[in-house]
Amino acid sequence: MSDNKKIEKIVGVKGMNDILPDDAPLWELFENTVQSVLKSYGYQQMRTPIVEPTQLFARGLGEVTDIVEKEMYSFEDSMNGDKLTLRPENTAGIVRAALEHNLVYDGPKRLWYNGPMFRHEKPQRGRYRQFHQVGAEALGFTGPDIDAELIMLCQRLWDDLGLQNVRLELNSIGDAAERNQHRADLIAYFEKNEHLLDAEAKRRLHSNPLRILDTKNPAMQEMVNQAPKLLDYLGEESRNHFEGLQKILRDNSIPFTVNPRLVRGMDYYNRSVFEWVTDELGSQGTVCAGGRYDALFSIFGGKPTPACGFAMGIERLLELMKAAGDVQLPNLCDVYLVHQGSAAQSQAMVLGERLRDAGLDVVLHCASAAGVGSFKAQMKRADASGAAFAAIIGEDEIATGTVAVKSMRISADEGAREDKKPQQMQVAFESAVEFIVNQIVGDSHAEHGDDCCDDPNHIHIHH
Ligand code: ATP
Ligand code: MG
Repeated sequence: MSDNKKIEKIVGVKGMNDILPDDAPLWELFENTVQSVLKSYGYQQMRTPIVEPTQLFARGLGEVTDIVEKEMYSFEDSMNGDKLTLRPENTAGIVRAALEHNLVYDGPKRLWYNGPMFRHEKPQRGRYRQFHQVGAEALGFTGPDIDAELIMLCQRLWDDLGLQNVRLELNSIGDAAERNQHRADLIAYFEKNEHLLDAEAKRRLHSNPLRILDTKNPAMQEMVNQAPKLLDYLGEESRNHFEGLQKILRDNSIPFTVNPRLVRGMDYYNRSVFEWVTDELGSQGTVCAGGRYDALFSIFGGKPTPACGFAMGIERLLELMKAAGDVQLPNLCDVYLVHQGSAAQSQAMVLGERLRDAGLDVVLHCASAAGVGSFKAQMKRADASGAAFAAIIGEDEIATGTVAVKSMRISADEGAREDKKPQQMQVAFESAVEFIVNQIVGDSHAEHGDDCCDDPNHIHIHH
């Protein structure tokens, strides 16, 4: 290739984002929090493949849903012609796997998942072509207690994440017979008002009239508002279920509003449906959505099994967390190791391993194209790392068998006082680990009060 020929760079697929290291701590905080909340309710993690048979979604979600009609990444396996799809959601996959492995054979199961989903949508804020969902699926429970539990679990998560501006909307879409009656009346009503329907609504009139209620077309709002309401068609059992759910939520002080217009995009839902919405993210305001899907097991050829679940969009929740502002992110490391000279470098490596043995996170300064750099350049790196301490080994330290330990953090009010410069202590190499661990444990106790941690082996540090 000739030297002056410019090599074109390859860029990523539109709507599919790289998650960069700067954002990793926020993802980690979210994922750790959601995992521990799910665990506290007894949910077990499932990991299903990203690729599933196209038929799974076509049958499970319904042929005339947004997802199946126009959002799926589907392709043929070039080896054998199988029709495959990158999963646009994970409820269908979880139910397929539950059937395949007989998971509910010995009783109901509480399950959860976390992973990427793929939908061919117009990329915009809060709407991507690869995005990530955490979801929970409670299989084999009749509810409404489990419906309430799933909702309360979400509320606990928002609380733990410090998210205040998320509100709950609730509806019941009844069972199949109730929906059919409502559907017939709805079609009749829309036919009577056909002159007011837009092209999309006309197309959906007979295939999926419920979705017309979901229209964003302002010209149709008034007509849609007057349409027959599904809530008025609920029979006694569905009504009791819905009342039961509302009672548990009230008993547990979970605020909600009943939104009779709330319908979900997938065909498999029945009875309880809910959405957690916020006004802080523009038009992509739904951060979590779910409901009951008692028919899905049968649709897939399994024994009828009641089920309820939700999925939350991680990207939207991270945006909310950023907007809330007061998230405490962990730092990259506790100690940054600075060294000058080859003897110092070997000692620094030894010290690094010992500090890690003691449970600390340690970054060792390593050479880049520019070499290891001066002390000053290395200290700059140490500062940028957010480490609590820099441990410094140079010629002097090698000669005297010591390590210089410098505290990198001065709290705001300490920093304001002239006499409180960042401290640097000369410590014998052999006692450096103990010294640093004590400093860090001491710091975290001072911050949290002495009773914050009873386990002497557990060093946890919040900077
Ligand atoms: P919307 O009405 O916003 O298209 P949806 O009904 O298609 O949402 P669900 O399939 O219920 O969404 O997915 C649950 C959650 O996953 C959504 O509430 C949202 O937070 C998130 N989500 C869905 N699609 C996307 C996407 N393309 N990009 C980012 N997040 C998404
Ligand atoms: Mg959608």
